[in-house]
Amino acid sequence: MQILLTFDYELFFGKSSGTIENCMISPTKKLLQIAQKHKIPLCFFVDIGYYIKLKEFETNFPDLSKDREAFEKQIQEMVALGHDVQLHIHPHWEKAEYHKQGWQIQTSHCYKLDDFEQEEAEKIIIKYKEALDLLIQRKTHTFRAGGWCIQPFNRWEKTFRSLGVKIDSSVFPGAYIQSDNYQVDFRNAPQKDYYFFENAVEEENIQGSFLELPISEWYYSPFFYWRLYLLGKLFPSKHKMMGDGSFISQGSRKWNSLTRYTWNHASIDGYFTEALNRILKHKIKKKHTYFNLIGHPKGMTKYSLKKLDLFIEKNKKNHSFITFDHVLENHF
Ligand SMILES: [Zn+2]
Repeated sequence: MQILLTFDYELFFGKSSGTIENCMISPTKKLLQIAQKHKIPLCFFVDIGYYIKLKEFETNFPDLSKDREAFEKQIQEMVALGHDVQLHIHPHWEKAEYHKQGWQIQTSHCYKLDDFEQEEAEKIIIKYKEALDLLIQRKTHTFRAGGWCIQPFNRWEKTFRSLGVKIDSSVFPGAYIQSDNYQVDFRNAPQKDYYFFENAVEEENIQGSFLELPISEWYYSPFFYWRLYLLGKLFPSKHKMMGDGSFISQGSRKWNSLTRYTWNHASIDGYFTEALNRILKHKIKKKHTYFNLIGHPKGMTKYSLKKLDLFIEKNKKNHSFITFDHVLENHF
């Protein structure tokens, strides 16, 4: 199995964005240490919109220069250590503002690319990719949409093609999230570990010029979520997220997960790491090539860092940990 450990490198987007130190810098340091110990690469999907805004607001708020420098330093460290840095777009930054109290982030009608007019959306994609490529001094080729909201893909197909984006990793088969902010419908996406597509990310097209490398999915029982919430209450020091902000609502998703079986990611965040070896076993049985995991530095807990360390230790001999550069070489 080829395993991708991917992390969306970002703040929170709810009422409180959290701090760069607790949501990004400090948990990422811990992740880099684990990776270094096992000599394996990690993949980071960098929320570059945040960086663009830091630069914009630091003229009036000089304190933000420290955040901007910390961001730059950590991204450059990732690259220097051989980790993968790819493009993650959260377009709501376009409307975000910084005040003395912190980031004022509103997400309604600007959370996903589909909330923007065509020309505006294309400009955002181009601007964000250029900013990231410039920062890391290399060309990114893989994309993950903020909040997985990449649909309808035909709106961005041309722009992505012209920018040399070849791989997407936004889909997680089976998922359906509809709320004020989210429009995600991957219920009909192929239950495969990779497939080519052309103008619809959820439809396989063997002649397609883009490769989808879906985030691996798992069908979680409601008991799993009851355990997750209970353990968090009983053992907060072990299960408290390092990130210090708050999530935006995903509609009725939380209630659904507590009352029925639901699809969700194979995830490196918090208690989700409990399921990693089970999911890997299932993937081996299905003869999949890729196991693509998602996590967030802000979602790390003492528990998840320990479990990730053990997961790598257990599997590094029989499986390989790879980046999207390897995926590109494998298929293009
Ligand atoms: Zn994100």
